[in-house]
Amino acid sequence: MFGLIGHSTSFDDAKQKAMDLGYDHIAKGDLDVWCSAPPQLVEHVNVVSAIGKKIEGAYIDSCFVPEMLGRFKTARRKVLNAMELAQKKGINITALGGFTSIIFENFNLLQNKQVRNTTLDWERFTTGNTHTAWVICRQLELNAPLIGINPKKATVAVVGATGDIGSAVCRWLVERTGVKEVLLVARQQQPLIELQNSLNGGKILPMEEALPLADVVIWVASLPKNLEIDTSNLHKPCLMIDGGYPKNLNEKFNGLGIHVLKGGIVEFFADIGWNMMELAAMEKPQRQMFACFAEAMLLEFEECHTNFSWGRNNITLEKMDFIGEASLRHGFSVLGLKPNLQVAIA
Ligand code: NDP
Repeated sequence: MFGLIGHSTSFDDAKQKAMDLGYDHIAKGDLDVWCSAPPQLVEHVNVVSAIGKKIEGAYIDSCFVPEMLGRFKTARRKVLNAMELAQKKGINITALGGFTSIIFENFNLLQNKQVRNTTLDWERFTTGNTHTAWVICRQLELNAPLIGINPKKATVAVVGATGDIGSAVCRWLVERTGVKEVLLVARQQQPLIELQNSLNGGKILPMEEALPLADVVIWVASLPKNLEIDTSNLHKPCLMIDGGYPKNLNEKFNGLGIHVLKGGIVEFFADIGWNMMELAAMEKPQRQMFACFAEAMLLEFEECHTNFSWGRNNITLEKMDFIGEASLRHGFSVLGLKPNLQVAIA
């Protein structure tokens, strides 16, 4: 069985979701009430892949919301409790979605193997970041040409370049796509210098200098809220692939030569018959999902029960090849620009 651990994009969304599910007493509670709410296994599902492989899965809501990020102990407890629940339910491979993987890494939860009487078995969990990185790179390769950008001639800014996903994306863009130049954006200088050395290329720039130079911007910074950016000095056309969760960018930037694409999202070839992605505001919630969640499904389809994506900056191009091939074989495709946008610029 595969599992997905997720959370709502905001406290308001979480309250709405709880109301829809009939948990009125929690929905009406303030943030303190939510801080002590336990994780919930919200849904079970059966899935058949494009090559006929059948698997079962479950969705666990960690009851974490980004507003809790500043509360270290709460965030830690939310993630560990959700992992404990997944393991107790006998789930073979569970994806840590959205902020849960970032909390796991940044708060060093590897030190917290024991949760009450459960010893967490790390092999049962994956961040899903390898698939997410592969999906974002494919989104660039497939969609840039649709708006007149040749990937091989493109300058690509990666905001969040030193992160787990960002560093893998940079490596792929340099070695596989062969883009003209990668602009490396993050706040801390030392990891940027190390990344530049390991890539043997790329230019380190602050965000405000990188954005006006870029034909494509990949957003994979772990930001708690949307960023406001000045669009007047951006290249047109410019492809913005927003891989953050919550989204790094407001979709209002779409238009006037700026094309915002939801990054790190895949579509399955058939309806799945679940409700969980309605809560994540997917356009086609029966087929679309976060790439990290799809990674847990792929590992279950492949009977690869191991923590495939784990730790920081361990993603290799070979692992991206493996998960990318599995993704295509089992019936996933990457989300593209809306056809009406492509027509508008043609
Ligand atoms: P990491 O924590 O590993 O990396 C975050 C990166 O963002 C770092 O390079 C960090 O560097 C940079 N960063 C953070 N804040 C800022 C800022 N204000 N300005 C510029 N850079 C910044 O994150 P991951 O790689 O694991 O995840 C990245 C994003 O992808 C997250 O939003 C996550 O939720 C999302 N995600 C999406 C998935 C999907 O399925 N679609 C799956 C998994 C994750 P520094 O601190 O030096 O600034």
